[in-house]
Amino acid sequence: CGIVGYVGPQQAEDIVVNGLRRLEYRGYDSAGVALVVDGKLVSEKRAGKIANLDKALADHPLPESTTGIGHTRWATHGPPTDRNAHPHLGQQNRVALVHNGIIENFAQLRTELENAGHELRSDTDTEVAAHLLEAEVSAGADLTTAMQHVCNRLEGAFTLVAVDAHDADRVVAARRNSPLVVGLGEGENFLASDVAAFIEHTREALELGQDQVVTITREGVEVTDFHGKPAEAKPYHVDWDLSA
Ligand code: GLU
Repeated sequence: CGIVGYVGPQQAEDIVVNGLRRLEYRGYDSAGVALVVDGKLVSEKRAGKIANLDKALADHPLPESTTGIGHTRWATHGPPTDRNAHPHLGQQNRVALVHNGIIENFAQLRTELENAGHELRSDTDTEVAAHLLEAEVSAGADLTTAMQHVCNRLEGAFTLVAVDAHDADRVVAARRNSPLVVGLGEGENFLASDVAAFIEHTREALELGQDQVVTITREGVEVTDFHGKPAEAKPYHVDWDLSA
């Protein structure tokens, strides 16, 4: 129900978890985070309130990282358990993905993946997208190209945000029938389902259009359609009062 992504000089865990807290008003049943650390992914996710995630992170602190994603879940496929909480990882634990919405054709994609030897670890519709994305990246595509390819295979409504453990310099997102905004910082950039997640860091935003993929790095933002063609997102300034 809420999504956050970050790349920049600051601690991603703090930015992401605080961003999720700012989205709590939307309602959710689970929360989780994944960070890129030295070519690997580290992740923590819990059913229940963000306080449960906070406790898990306090009990087992994650290493420092400046690239990360987070999620608050409103379960549609699979009960609200730790296992079904996002992020979901690919088969080799190389790609982590969070998702808001519903992937309508997940059952067919799941069968296809299982026939190819993938072992799925959750009951969600989301996990198939993590496996497909990682398969593309493992075959040599960069995460942006992989996201474009995978989006063309998905039906339904989705905001997706993903990281690749082998590429700590980028976070990639996509949207169809589900909201996604970019927060433009200095030497850092943000992704979220709602500007509330990053308003304390920047008020300069981009609203993604329908069927667009966006890549954020520390230096910039690149937007394309699902076929890799450059596209325009709508810039705007958030002028509402933080205390409101
Ligand atoms: N359909 C996904 C799930 O059930 C995502 C739900 C959401 O939007 O939080 O895990």
